[in-house]
Amino acid sequence: MDLIEKCINEAENVFIGTYNRYPVVLNYGNGMYLYDVYGKQYLDFTSGIGVFALGYGNREYVLALKNQIDLLLHTSNYFYNIPSIEGAKKLSKASGMDKVFFTNSGTEAVEGAIKLARKYHYKKTGKTGGEIVAMDHAFHGRTMGALSITGTKKYREAFEPLIGGVKFAEFNNLDSVKVSINENTCAVIMEPVQGEGGIYPATEEFIKGVRKLCDDKGILLIFDEIQCGMGRTGSMFSYQGYKVMPDIMTSAKALGCGVPVGAFAATKEVAAAFEPGDHGTTYGGNPMVTAAVSKVFDLFEYKKVTEHVNIMGQYLYQRLSELKDKHDIIKEHRGIGLMQGLEFEIPVKDIISAALDMGLILISAGTNVIRFLPPLILDHKHVDEMISILEQCIDKLNK
Ligand SMILES: *Cc1c(COP(=O)(O)O)cnc(C)c1O
Repeated sequence: MDLIEKCINEAENVFIGTYNRYPVVLNYGNGMYLYDVYGKQYLDFTSGIGVFALGYGNREYVLALKNQIDLLLHTSNYFYNIPSIEGAKKLSKASGMDKVFFTNSGTEAVEGAIKLARKYHYKKTGKTGGEIVAMDHAFHGRTMGALSITGTKKYREAFEPLIGGVKFAEFNNLDSVKVSINENTCAVIMEPVQGEGGIYPATEEFIKGVRKLCDDKGILLIFDEIQCGMGRTGSMFSYQGYKVMPDIMTSAKALGCGVPVGAFAATKEVAAAFEPGDHGTTYGGNPMVTAAVSKVFDLFEYKKVTEHVNIMGQYLYQRLSELKDKHDIIKEHRGIGLMQGLEFEIPVKDIISAALDMGLILISAGTNVIRFLPPLILDHKHVDEMISILEQCIDKLNK
């Protein structure tokens, strides 16, 4: 039995079966490429689901992390440490928010945002039960609170009852949001560009309309930037591209470029609703992960990542549009920056498998959409290589 088969057998024996994994055993990464245990090379257009914005093995990033590991990994949040202060200052500056809370994951960032919105509502009105309006096809995570506002029924159904007081509105339909709001509504939450749900960018009219609606009614607006943030759409956070500010925002995925870290951040006024004891975490924002966060922000600035994304996003858009025009099997092309999707007339599972055989890693978003989330450091030649492999796969399956 070869090593790959052995790994697959052992994994299927030991892991709880929540994933349909691809038969690939990855060993190391370099720049835009990943390598399996036999050294087979894969071009990565997934970044570990939007995480490795700086590519694999960035030297300065790895050194910063190694240095911090040698110094101090963890302190608990009852003490101060310099990396977490630096990381929070940089996130606050980049996001335009005043105050930051670090978490260990995206879903925990969303949990914190929900709790903060509810506490703010409670302090303001004296009433509990603040309702939340979320969007159809939204994805916010797998823990019970975040799952409650995730717009795909099949993710939620078996786990009900979830937290109450959630209404779903149609994304990009302002009237639908309007009728979902009542006097108990405390917040509206949305991804400015829906990721998991199939790569749907908000229209400018919609996102600005929701902001105005929230202002008129005194409701908080929460933007989940976990996937679409950190430069992915050509602005540091995608709401900056829309020129619309939230009251609370969430970040994770590329925030630490590989270490498990998330955050929620808020305006001073909203953040003040939380008092000592209202929220906490043992690991959240420890010196190891925040040393990474801090370095990530430095490298984004130094490498002018958002400018690069704007150039490369346009090129990817052009090449994917050409591909769509050539193939009737491709129904739609959507996206902003380096967050794009191709919707096919058929399930994309077989295309993704064929691409893997040829050394290209792609990921779906729903059954019929291929999602393109490459490391943000890619170059024209990587786009060309991806298009060439993808086109061969489409031709093969179309025969
Ligand atoms: C991935 C994701 C989450 C959940 O993040 P985890 O780190 O997997 O918990 C939440 N919201 C959005 C938009 C995401 O893409």
